[in-house]
Amino acid sequence: MINDYLNTPIEFLKGIGPQRGALLRKEIGVFSFDDLLNYLPFRYVDKSNYVKISQIKNENAYVLIQGKILSKATVGAKFKSRLVVRFGDETGEIDLIWFKGVKWINEKLKIGEMYVIFGKPTLFKQTYNFTHPEIDLASETKLQKEGLFPMYNTTETMKNKGLTSKALSKLMQTLLDGLPASIPEILPPSVLGKYHLISRDSALRLVHFPKNQDELVRAQNRIKFEELFLLQMRVLKQKSQNHLEKSYVFSKVGDYFNHFYKENLPFSLTGAQQRVVREIRKDLGSGFQMNRLLQGDVGSGKTLVALMSMLIAADNGFQSCLMAPTEILAQQHFKSIQKFLTGLDIGVGLLTGSTKTKERRELHEDLQNGKIKILIGTHALIEDVVQFQKLGLCVIDEQHRFGVAQRSKLWNKSQFPPHILVMTATPIPRTLAMTLYGDLDTSTIDELPPNRKPVQTLHRYDSSRLKLYEFLKQEIRKGRQIYVVYPLIKESEKLDLKDLEEGYFTMCAEFPRPEFQVSILHGKMPPSEKDLGMKLFVENKTQIMVSTTVIEVGVDVPNATVMVIENAERFGLSQLHQLRGRVGRGADQSYCILMSHHKLSNDAKQRLDTMVKTNDGFKIAEVDLQLRGPGDIQGTQQSGALNFKLADLTKDERIIRAVRVAAGLVLDEDLNLTQPQHQMLSFHLRKMFGETVWSKIS
Ligand code: ADP
Ligand code: MG
Repeated sequence: MINDYLNTPIEFLKGIGPQRGALLRKEIGVFSFDDLLNYLPFRYVDKSNYVKISQIKNENAYVLIQGKILSKATVGAKFKSRLVVRFGDETGEIDLIWFKGVKWINEKLKIGEMYVIFGKPTLFKQTYNFTHPEIDLASETKLQKEGLFPMYNTTETMKNKGLTSKALSKLMQTLLDGLPASIPEILPPSVLGKYHLISRDSALRLVHFPKNQDELVRAQNRIKFEELFLLQMRVLKQKSQNHLEKSYVFSKVGDYFNHFYKENLPFSLTGAQQRVVREIRKDLGSGFQMNRLLQGDVGSGKTLVALMSMLIAADNGFQSCLMAPTEILAQQHFKSIQKFLTGLDIGVGLLTGSTKTKERRELHEDLQNGKIKILIGTHALIEDVVQFQKLGLCVIDEQHRFGVAQRSKLWNKSQFPPHILVMTATPIPRTLAMTLYGDLDTSTIDELPPNRKPVQTLHRYDSSRLKLYEFLKQEIRKGRQIYVVYPLIKESEKLDLKDLEEGYFTMCAEFPRPEFQVSILHGKMPPSEKDLGMKLFVENKTQIMVSTTVIEVGVDVPNATVMVIENAERFGLSQLHQLRGRVGRGADQSYCILMSHHKLSNDAKQRLDTMVKTNDGFKIAEVDLQLRGPGDIQGTQQSGALNFKLADLTKDERIIRAVRVAAGLVLDEDLNLTQPQHQMLSFHLRKMFGETVWSKIS
């Protein structure tokens, strides 16, 4: 009965009808009573405080004024006519202006009567006036309740048809008055009790018509909690399902691992690396598929952890692959892993887009006959022609560059889904990690290898360029190497490339041979030239590497100690942090120098300041989230999951934590939501997320 009411098409609400109904559907996506009920105010105005005309001081705030209409006049030609009403109280006079509905309003308003107006003053030619204020007879206004008044977003088209914010609020009242029963609760009673939440019914009533701030906050918190709770239920359910996916058991640690660990490892693992390896081993031995996200700041030693996991796979007779986002990075992984494995009899292969056909054929063969135990590569390794004998583990480096579809292609390469380890150096803010990536288990390397000196970060303007060059020369004379990075942004690729090339020539002129050698590297170069440039730099045959962000991920040259970032204001925070991670890899003091123009937007200033202030990737990720909002964080774009009505991942961390616990408790008690107190919840989740997530239950 109540549900029938809520599902009623919107045009049947008293005061709407077919025309306005169509408008509501088209303009704000409101189809049913329930949709309207969930169309929440975007702000509230306190109407309990009246203001005098002489007190009006700025344009931004809504005010409420009581006064008398002194005179009125229609001005201008027929189609451009406007109504100008002179309105006054004991402190002054002000104009009220209407461009629309002139005739109707003119007839309604009476000179000499007391009215109450509500609106935002605008400043026009040094004096304030009100355009299209709300206006009511003072005698009628007395009947209105005091308190916070809801403001709803409306479009121009809606306003033209009388669907103003005020009209919506009246419709909302009609809707609530007509409810045949309370709005059904969907949260389980245990959750309501434990977190002192008001009922769904109260929350939806109060969020539209709160009497005071306190009521409003309680209503909003309940609604936020519900939004986050429903998403969390889905995430945790997914996670529990992942844990049920059977996979290969890697029961032992054998010769490959032990030999490497005892003979080859040139340093001891950090405490964090040890802990993470244990977490991974536990997953690999469980018989269920591992789905683990390994986060660790740049240079924290993730690659090594990946390598040890792959050795465990090999010890158990399985192959693994390591997928990197760029060719350069794949090559680098290949080289450093080969070096780490010196003396071990284990087949390691490299497969990228530029692998020659002949080599490729051999690779394919050795994968199928099992000679290759570890395959390193780019996207090339998920092509259908690449078939393994026994693929047991997949490591994906820098996950945000791989789509989910690509990841699932790996499933088809073996009998069971292989274990998955996703590595990322872009720390995901905790709130996002809990909501969006909550279905992956996470391991965090929160400790850098010892003897690393934190990178010093400086922000400089073009005016100190000569000083910069002097400093770079000093560093090179000490035997160090330098990166100079230019932005390369799709929209203006040509201009950027020109900047880069000019930068290269400037550097060549400022740093003449034979004392200095300069390399250049960008994505448009043929692979062979790229390799050569990189090789010369890695071998310290060139001291300066001028490049675009192609060197952003993973490149490891410990002798490079200075990272100069040109037009740093054009980079995002996480990108700047990634770039900075290219230095500070050896024992020497490293520097990151952010070059920018003098004129900076507020956001840009905040980004650069943050970089100067902190080296902590997690702090940087938090600021990034605040500046850009969750929608822009890499990897979250396609996820509609984050379109909340009220919840805000940057502000509601406290609620997110509570929700995480609450959802966990409910699922622990009743994983399939079959108990009677979970029926409404179960029904609602299916409605929201479709049957898929909840179909595997029972
Ligand atoms: P990430 O992939 O997390 O950015 P890498 O795995 O590339 O980091 O490691 C960065 C550098 O630190 C590499 O040169 C690596 O050999 C070295 N390294 C890794 N773990 C340790 C450790 N425990 N002690 C000293 N150096 C380490
Ligand atoms: Mg790395």
